[in-house]
Amino acid sequence: MVEETGSTNADLLERLAEGERFSEGYWLRAERQTSGRGRLGRKWESQSGNLMCSTVVNLRPGDPSPSTLSLVTGLAVFDTVKRLLFDDTPMLLKWPNDLLVNDGKIAGILLERQGDAVVVGVGINLDEAPDLPDRRTTAVSWENGKFANGPESVLPRLAANLATRLRDWRDEPLSHTLLEWTVRSHRFNDRIRITNSEGEVTLARYRGIDQDGALRVEPLGAHETIVHAGDVTLRWHDEE
Ligand code: ATP
Repeated sequence: MVEETGSTNADLLERLAEGERFSEGYWLRAERQTSGRGRLGRKWESQSGNLMCSTVVNLRPGDPSPSTLSLVTGLAVFDTVKRLLFDDTPMLLKWPNDLLVNDGKIAGILLERQGDAVVVGVGINLDEAPDLPDRRTTAVSWENGKFANGPESVLPRLAANLATRLRDWRDEPLSHTLLEWTVRSHRFNDRIRITNSEGEVTLARYRGIDQDGALRVEPLGAHETIVHAGDVTLRWHDEE
């Protein structure tokens, strides 16, 4: 554990670059992060009282496609948050690695690869969530009204859940992990909006994910296709 750092992912990447190797199960947690990161250079707001941590997955020969690791991590985060909320609280995974609770973003996942090592960073809003102009956010304590566990007691559960999900990913057919993820995502055929890095928007029907963890969609009026990168927004019935 460190009191304060820029980013736990950046710290582990730096240590890997210096030649350090980590055995699986090692986690670095920060009480405070001053420059938490999200995908595509985005910012992750890391308020103290929340869980901010990173670990390393060492890729082995025969492992499934590393791009599916973000699904594995999403499942472990889902398992962890699920146990902190009332059973009927709506939760869903959104491609590629979002966890929404009551339509609010409650967790962030960032995977960064260096050679055969993948640094897996996880942020979970336990106590607080930032007010953001562009999206709804939430925290465990907002959803269950009396969250009592601190990040130090949630981390061991996350570590155990990731270890279990990784074992399944390695030992069972990949289709099991893909199905586990898919049944926790939104519904097949849901209307979604995909925005690519140029800001172009495609409206499409959701068709699940493929063997590489890519998004399978059928754009309106076009044939089914695969999306490897982009932002997905769930579209509601009142949208065109
Ligand atoms: P998605 O997983 O939906 O593709 P993303 O890639 O935009 O989302 P992440 O990389 O997981 O998101 O996180 C960065 C984004 O999350 C920021 O751009 C901001 O909108 C939002 N964000 C930042 N801090 C928090 C927080 N503590 N809680 C919820 N959302 C946050």
